Amino acid sequence: MKKRLFALYLLLVCFGAHIPSVASAQDQASSKNQSLALTGAKIYPKPTAKPIINGVVLIKDGRIVAVGDSRKIKIPNSSKVLDCRGLTLTAAFWNSHVHFTEQKWQNAASLPAAQLAGQMQEMLTRYGFAHVLDTGSFTDNTLALRQRIEKENIAGPSIRLAAGSFVSLDGTPFYLEPLKLPELATPAEATKIISGLLASGVDGIKIFAASPKRGKPPVVMPLDIAKAVVSVAHARGKFVVAHPTNNAGIEVVLGAGVDILAHTTPDGGQAWSEDLIKRLKVARTALIPTLRLWRFELERNKVSAAGVEKFLEVALQQLRAYSQAGGEILFGTDVGYMSIYSTADEYELMAKAGMSFQQILASLTTAPAARFGVAKQTGKIAVGMDADIVVLTADPAVDIKALANVKYTFRKGKIIYALK
Ligand SMILES: [Zn+2]
Repeated sequence: MKKRLFALYLLLVCFGAHIPSVASAQDQASSKNQSLALTGAKIYPKPTAKPIINGVVLIKDGRIVAVGDSRKIKIPNSSKVLDCRGLTLTAAFWNSHVHFTEQKWQNAASLPAAQLAGQMQEMLTRYGFAHVLDTGSFTDNTLALRQRIEKENIAGPSIRLAAGSFVSLDGTPFYLEPLKLPELATPAEATKIISGLLASGVDGIKIFAASPKRGKPPVVMPLDIAKAVVSVAHARGKFVVAHPTNNAGIEVVLGAGVDILAHTTPDGGQAWSEDLIKRLKVARTALIPTLRLWRFELERNKVSAAGVEKFLEVALQQLRAYSQAGGEILFGTDVGYMSIYSTADEYELMAKAGMSFQQILASLTTAPAARFGVAKQTGKIAVGMDADIVVLTADPAVDIKALANVKYTFRKGKIIYALK
C-alpha cells in the first residue's frame, strides 16, 4: 500500500531534484550560555502590537530573554551580535497544510542528515516555517522525519501529523485513483481504527468529509462515521482536519464537530452564505485557505485562464467572508502535494481576499500556536517565548509578498535557514 502510494504521488507530483548546500543552516546561532543579540530590525512582536522601529531581540538558551527599543535594551559584552539593520523581524511561521509525499522524502529513517536538512530548507525553512502540520502523508515516514529532526538536531521545523486520510466507502477522490485511501465503513469500525492510529503517536486525524468524483456527485462521508472519528480523537485531546470539497462536506464538518477545514471549497461553485459563516464561527472551525493550490490544479488540467479566475473568485469570497466575520484562519499551502514551494502568490491572494498584513501574520503565527496548544511557547516575540523567529529582507506591511523573502529562520534560537 505504501509503495503504491509513493508510486502514485510520483505520477501526480512533479518536483525539482537539486539539493542546496546546508552548511550554514546547521550552524549554531550561539553556544550554550552565550546570548545572541539581533539588532536594528523593525520588529513586529505580534499581529496586534505596534512595530518597534529600531529593535533588539536578545536570545539565550533558545529563549527570548529581552525585546525592545535598541536604546533601552542592554546587550551583554559577551553576547554575539547579528546585525539586522534594514530587516524586518517577526515570530517564525507555521504552514498548517504540508505533505511529505514526494519521492525524495521516502526512507526518511535512513536519508543522510544533510540531505534531509537541504530538503527541509528548499520546501519549508527558507520560507520562514519553523512549524508545520502534515495533513496526511505516510504515517511511519513522517514520524521518522520528526524523530530525526528532534533527536539528531537536524535543521528543520517542528512537525505535527494529522494522519489517515480516511474516506467512506468508495470515497477515494478521483485525482488519487487508482490508489484507494483507507475506508471507514461503519462508526464501530471508525472507532476501532482511529483508536489504534492515535496510539501510534500522531497528533490528529485527517478525513475526507466529501470526496470529488469524476462525472458524478461527490461521495459524502456519513455523519455518524465522521462523528465517531471526532469523538475518539477529542476524547484523547487530538484534533480532526477535513478535506471538505463542497458545502455538503462542510455540513459533515459542522455536524460532527471537525476542528479544521483543510481547504476552501470552490469545487462546489457556491459562495459561503452568511448563515454558514455564522455556524462555522460559532463552532470555532479553523480554515486553511490554500488559494494558490486551486490555480495550480486547474492550470495543470488545462482549464482556461477565465475558468481559473472564476473558480478562484469563489475561494476568495469564502475566505473574505470568513475572515471578515472574525473566523480563525490558519496559513497553509498544500506544499509537497503542490510542487510550487514559494509562498509569495498565496500571500498576494490572501491580501486580495481582503486580509490585512496583521490578519495574515496572525494566520502564520498566533492563530496556529493557539490552535495547536503552544501559545505560551511560540507565536510571539516576547520575553520567555521560544526564540522562533523569522527575519525578512523587506517590510511585509508595505508589500505582503515580502513575507516570502526570508533572510533567517530561527527555531529555539538555532538558525535553521540563512539566506546566502
Ligand atoms: Zn493536502
